[in-house]
Amino acid sequence: MHCILCGSTSIAWKLSNRFYHCDICDCIMKPKSSFLTKNEEKGRYDLHKNDANERGYRAFVSPVVERIKKEQSCDAKGLDFGSGRDSAVVAQLQEVGYDIKSYDPYYFADEEILERRYDYISCTEVIEHFYSPQKEFQRLKDMLQKGGALYIMTELYSDDIDFENWYYKEDPTHVIFYTKKSFEWIKEYYGFKSLEINGRAIKLAL
Ligand SMILES: [Zn+2]
Repeated sequence: MHCILCGSTSIAWKLSNRFYHCDICDCIMKPKSSFLTKNEEKGRYDLHKNDANERGYRAFVSPVVERIKKEQSCDAKGLDFGSGRDSAVVAQLQEVGYDIKSYDPYYFADEEILERRYDYISCTEVIEHFYSPQKEFQRLKDMLQKGGALYIMTELYSDDIDFENWYYKEDPTHVIFYTKKSFEWIKEYYGFKSLEINGRAIKLAL
């Protein structure tokens, strides 16, 4: 098995045979044999009760929404990648006049959306679902205009987390977990100019 982010073979089992750790990019991933099929994955997503009007969901994504409001203008072109059925990021930004589109492989699978360029892309609670993160980060980078920004939310793993009891790894649709070091690797490998990490809100800019 190769690391699904950096391609390295320098990976070792972590926690018996349920996860791998990569020495090069520091990601922790599940073996491909445990990935859900598309139908199983969609079945899980259909159960998500995310409603863009729901207060808790709005508050949860607000670090990304507020950051975009502060840094991007209404006429900048935005994309919410992995939006799900009803994105609270898109709803909150469109309500105040922002030009942001949704893309989701299950609910808004319009490939034409992926052929355009954007000033910013939001990607909240999505990257831990990537089956092919190397390809997906390349795609995200390629969709950004020069100077563009990628606003990510995910829960980073760090040594002060008790991995064995970490709830985040138990979601069957979560297949890869990142650390700060993983993001340093991503920044260098894809040629982003800057990286900022504030808790679970991460910004990469070109
Ligand atoms: Zn790796």
